Parts: sequence; C-alpha cells; structure tokens
Amino acid sequence: TRPLKFAPRPVPLSATLAVNEAVARKKRQGVRVLPLGFGEAGIPIHPALTRELEAASGRGAYGPVAGSAALRAAAAGYWSRRGLPTDPSAVVAGPGSKPLLFALLAALGGDVVVAAPSWVSYAAQASLTGAEAVRVPTVAGEGGVPDPDLLPDAVARARARGRTVRAVIVTLPDNPTGTLASEETVRRLCSAARELDLVVVSDEIYRDLVHASGRAVPSPARFAPERTVVTTALSKSLAAGGWRLGVARLPDGPFGRALRDSVLGVASEIWSSAPAPMQHAAAYAFAEPPELVEHVDRSRRLHAAVTGAVADRFAAAGARVARPEAAFYVYPDLGPLRGELAERHGVRTSADLTGLLLERYGVGVLPGSAFGDEAEALRMRVAPSLLYGEDDEQRLAALASPA
Ligand code: PLP
Repeated sequence: TRPLKFAPRPVPLSATLAVNEAVARKKRQGVRVLPLGFGEAGIPIHPALTRELEAASGRGAYGPVAGSAALRAAAAGYWSRRGLPTDPSAVVAGPGSKPLLFALLAALGGDVVVAAPSWVSYAAQASLTGAEAVRVPTVAGEGGVPDPDLLPDAVARARARGRTVRAVIVTLPDNPTGTLASEETVRRLCSAARELDLVVVSDEIYRDLVHASGRAVPSPARFAPERTVVTTALSKSLAAGGWRLGVARLPDGPFGRALRDSVLGVASEIWSSAPAPMQHAAAYAFAEPPELVEHVDRSRRLHAAVTGAVADRFAAAGARVARPEAAFYVYPDLGPLRGELAERHGVRTSADLTGLLLERYGVGVLPGSAFGDEAEALRMRVAPSLLYGEDDEQRLAALASPA
C-alpha cells in the first residue's frame, strides 16, 4: 500500500449529531446518560402513520424527482389550510428538509444571512456550497429572524467585500430559542429583503408545535410571496425524523419556477426521489386525518408543560431564559451565573460547560456557540419521554391533560 499525499477536506460532524455520538459512546461505556442534545420530539410515533408506511413497503421503484402527485397535492392542501394557497406544482419533496435546504442553497449559489443564534446547519451547509453565512442578531425575545433594522448594513458590508448575498433564512418558530418572531418583525424583514433583492427562506419545521396561546406563525410567504420558499417536515410534529421526509414550497411566478427547476436539478443529482413508502405515509399525514391532528395537539400540550417547567427552574436559578413558545427546546443564557460557574467549576465558555455536563454528569446538551451565539447559552431539548420513558403512553397522556 502507498499512503495518500493529501488529507480529505475537513468537514466536522454537525454539532447535534456529534453530541448524539458522544452520548452513545458514554452509554456503551455503561455510563447513565441524559440525552438532551439531539432535536427529537421524544413522543411515540402514531400507529396510523406506521400502518400507512407498512402498507406502502412494497413500493421499490424510483418516483418523480419532485415527489409523487399524491404527496404534492397533500402538502399543497396542508399549506392552503394555513393561509398559504399552494399549487401542487410548487411543492418539492425530499428525504428530510435538511437536504432540501442544502439543495436550495446550492441552487441560489450565493451567501445567506442567518440569525444569531440560528440552527447549526444553515451556516455549515452554506460553507459546503462554497458560500458564507452572514450572522445578524435578532430583535430581543424574537429568535429566528435577523433584525430587519440591521439587515441592510450587514448585506451592504458583505457586498462591499465582493460577496454575492442571495438569501436570508428565518426559522418560524425558532430553534434554538423556542421563541416565535412577531408579525411586525416578519413584515419588516420582508420589506428589507425586497429592497435588498434577497430570497427569504422560511424554515417552518416547528410550525405545528407553537404552544404559546394566541400565537400564529407569521409566514413571510404571506408578505413576500414572490421571493419566499417555505420548508417543513414530519420530523418534529410527528416525531418521524428517522423516516426522512420533508417538503419545500417554492415561490409564485417566474423566479419561483426557475428556482424550482434548479432545486430539482440538484435533487436529481443527489437523492433522485424521496423514499417511496415514506411519500405514501407523508401524503396521509399532510392530509391531516383527525387522529394525527389529535396526536399533534396532545404532544404540543406535553411540550408546553415540560419546557415551561424546565425554563422556570433555570430562571429561579438566576439564568436569563425566554419562556418557550414552541417546540421542545429550552435555551437559558447562563451569563448572569458566569462568576459562580468560573469559581466553582472552572467553566468559562458554553462549550466548557457542555463538556463538563457530559463528562461529570452524563448530560448531553449543546453550547450556544454551536448556533453562533456569543452568549453563554445552552440548548437542551426537554422531551416528555425523558421524564416518563418512550413507552409510557399513560403517563404522557396524564401530563398533557389540563390540570
Ligand atoms: N430545520 C430546523 C430548524 C431543525 O431544527 C431541523 C432538525 O433538527 C431541520 C430543519 C431538519 O430536519 P429534517 O431534515 O429532519 O426535516
């Protein structure tokens, strides 16, 4: 054998998956671990969904790159019922929304503006396509949307360096903060995007898990339909992340159609078509039969109860923490406890703290730095199953019922 003279391009494991692996390693060593890193709902998969998947397990052929007609029609109906009238031809399916987002960035071929903090993969994916992510802080308490007042300057500075900025990504509601930006902020973001000639990518994977009362997701697709792409998936609301199925809704008009063709070109070179049995199950899910609607309602109540309780404990301990409005994340900023953490544990950064939590206490969480946050924040997912075990339906149900 002859050793190679070059090293592969270093591509680190995505922070969420890296924590997952570290937790699994600890488990194999016989250490009792609490996995609060990976973004999983931790609720059981609904048996009706399993039934649909099994019914289609014999489908082995490749399908259309954009997804089956049945799935595209069902996803179009799902969005139309949420105030976003959608033609099935605007829908593209893929093996999860993560690859769809990657295909979009590859098709847009330029830099993207993301919120600080924002989901780990936006910046990492941009860099894999040879682009840069421009980080812009959010309005206080409104995670997921770059502050519209700061956007023009940030884009102007990147363009002055010769960068081609093509899009701004928003997360509604947000991961990691679990908050939902206001309609006013989203409207202003859309106006700024229009002025700056940017596409708006609206990642709405947590849309159906908003549990703060009276809050509705203000999709930019309502305010800037000609330039907004919306993505979602079954991974979070139906806890089917491992089944890998996501959908994107491309913008109206000639630009939207051209972008769709480019996304399909990328898709055709990477995944060809989404898994056929899963497309069948997803068509059923996006049609929103009553049993699944009830299941999502129930899990939303569970997430509200658990995230609220954990956030309260952090607040009582002196951390700065927004009350979670959606999903299953709690994102405390431990800045106010900095002195105590340094003195008692020798901890200086959020990455030091997550290392300590894993090594000494077997708790896997993510540091704010993984999300591009300079604050000493931690992101933890606090799924109901952590309290009661994945199979304890009865206690999960009891937790969800109103007190
Ligand atoms: N977007 C956000 C904000 C997420 O948190 C995740 C999952 O962690 C995804 C997208 C990707 O999910 P999937 O590829 O399972 O659709």
